[in-house]
Amino acid sequence: MPLEIVQAGDPVLRQPSRLLTAEEIRAHKIQQLIEEMREAMRSAPGVGLAAPQAGYPLQLAVIEDRADYHQKLTASQLAERERRPVPFQVLINPTIVSRSDQSRTFFEGCLSLAGYCALVPRSLSVRVEYLDEQGAPRSQDVTGWHARIVQHEVDHLQGTLYIDRMLSRSFTNLENLARHWKDLPVREILERLK
Ligand code: ZN
Repeated sequence: MPLEIVQAGDPVLRQPSRLLTAEEIRAHKIQQLIEEMREAMRSAPGVGLAAPQAGYPLQLAVIEDRADYHQKLTASQLAERERRPVPFQVLINPTIVSRSDQSRTFFEGCLSLAGYCALVPRSLSVRVEYLDEQGAPRSQDVTGWHARIVQHEVDHLQGTLYIDRMLSRSFTNLENLARHWKDLPVREILERLK
């Protein structure tokens, strides 16, 4: 049965998830959960999914930003967001160990707050340390949209949602995003929402 994505209000989204051991990571149960999360992320579709969103308070997230998701964005929107394809990636027990001083603000959504989004400031670049799906330690420097996704997913594993970090006056449903805000520069949106 496909994983059901938990919606805001479920306590599992608000508790810190527990670390996984190397032994657990290699076991069938977690390997199977990774596969199920990949399927659920793709069918949503979304660019990231954290285990709590599948109802499991475990420090595990999957990320994938496919080129075919970029077709609705213009070349300049992709460039502004520094959004490039990200191959499928598994983050286990991730920690953000450093951040750039610079930040970027863009609309961001979440599969657990279906139908809504808001402007969220995020660090432009971060370094993340984690275990991969084999339990091997990794360190990765990520920037732009990839860094945004990583920060969003790491937040999930600590019980934090984007609504805790958003510029709350920008909160909108997707219909009104398309109608009023989607094509405006962020600077102008902020001016209008003052
Ligand atoms: Zn989310």
